[in-house]
Amino acid sequence: AFPESDGAVKMRTVTLASVSPEEKPKLLLRPVLNSLAMIDKVKPIVERVRREGDEGLRAMTKQFDRAELSSNIALPPFATPSESQLPADVRQAIDQAYANVKAFHVAQAETAPLSVETMPGVVCSRFSRPIARVGVYVPGGTAILPSTAIMLGVPAQVAGCKEIVLATPPRPDGSISPEVLYVAQLTGVTCILKAGGAQAVAAMAYGTKEVPKVDKIFGPGNQWVTAAKMLVQNDTDALVAIDMPAGPSEVLVIADHTANPVFVASDLLSQAEHGTDSQVVLVGINLTSAHLEAIEQQIDVQARALPRVKIAREAIKKSLIVLVDSVDEGIRFSNEYAPEHLILHLENSSGAVEKIDNAGSVFVGPFSPESCGDYASGTNHTLPTNGFARQFSGVNTLSFQKHITSQELTADGLRKLGPTVVTLAEREGLEAHANAVRVRLAELSKA
Ligand code: NAD
Repeated sequence: AFPESDGAVKMRTVTLASVSPEEKPKLLLRPVLNSLAMIDKVKPIVERVRREGDEGLRAMTKQFDRAELSSNIALPPFATPSESQLPADVRQAIDQAYANVKAFHVAQAETAPLSVETMPGVVCSRFSRPIARVGVYVPGGTAILPSTAIMLGVPAQVAGCKEIVLATPPRPDGSISPEVLYVAQLTGVTCILKAGGAQAVAAMAYGTKEVPKVDKIFGPGNQWVTAAKMLVQNDTDALVAIDMPAGPSEVLVIADHTANPVFVASDLLSQAEHGTDSQVVLVGINLTSAHLEAIEQQIDVQARALPRVKIAREAIKKSLIVLVDSVDEGIRFSNEYAPEHLILHLENSSGAVEKIDNAGSVFVGPFSPESCGDYASGTNHTLPTNGFARQFSGVNTLSFQKHITSQELTADGLRKLGPTVVTLAEREGLEAHANAVRVRLAELSKA
């Protein structure tokens, strides 16, 4: 019904049961990211920032973002955007999103230290402290993304980070979008770095005269940003951590006979419009051919009405419909794929959640579109892509904190535990370790 020649927006369909074991791993692959080649490309940019500092940063801002600046940084108080720059409805929407994201991230913060008496007189504790200086990257090349500023600024603020540097590419006139400025104010950003790409990451990783050096860099971005983050985290001179490896955004939707084709198509397309490399997967459970066709028709009709139809079409072309026979089979596939976003359109969506092992964030039932999590419900939208949901969590309040452990032994505690430590230290041939216990036990035996 939708021939390619007609420019139909159509996905490739496979039936999982008929896919050979050799072919199956290919279904789990994302568009190839040649990260090593990209790292080679960003090296000269990073090195230039180290060599030339603020001057190099200014030159590259002119080259890549067409903005001529006298300085790349802006310090608070930031100018309050006027009503004409930021209409009341947008301001209220940002306020609502900020409130919800804050409520969810405040609840994640660890307030009380953990304390365990592992044996009488031996108390082990763990407490959290904010990472003092953090850098948050808010992409700005092709779209303004105040939602990303909220998703990174709020947990940094809630965690209690002392310095929050927000980096974002300036517009050609050198300004920052009023939406991002407003969020910077709300979240207590201490410095705005008007720079983008690898040069912004390098400036935050090493610091310049003007740009404060940070301890951890967060945020999505294009391949220049991502490669620069990977490069600096491996340089011991920089001594900087990053949130997670980032790749193109993705969604996996699991739909059964109860799924509304209009909703399913809208969810797939809201991901596909991100970029031509976005990954969109639909897992259909026992769908009739009429149901499947209704979904495909909706994808085509809704895509054609989008301003970003070209991008959506490219993404959809590379995407996949996987047909399976049961909810369990569908969830097994999803767990193997480990999607960044997982949307459940099932008869019993909430019942399926306990079977989910790998996903960045889950959207449960017909009235929970991914868009709500992307903007305003409270969960974070900075999530692991490319299958990294197997071992990474999305950004959360604890991402902006670290843990310190401590212990305190009483004299009795050391009397009880000391001989165990001496035995193990001697066994490892570390005499000084054993001795640090022996001298104390000797002292205690005099008392
Ligand atoms: P960006 O801010 O990431 O990149 C813009 C910068 O890239 C420029 O300032 C420039 O310095 C650099 N750059 C571009 N071309 C270059 C070149 N040829 N040489 C050197 N440097 C160059 O903005 P973008 O490009 O719009 O990309 C945004 C990305 O962020 C997209 O890939 C989008 O999918 C992703 N994103 C992801 C999420 C998420 O949560 N997963 C959210 C928002 C955006």
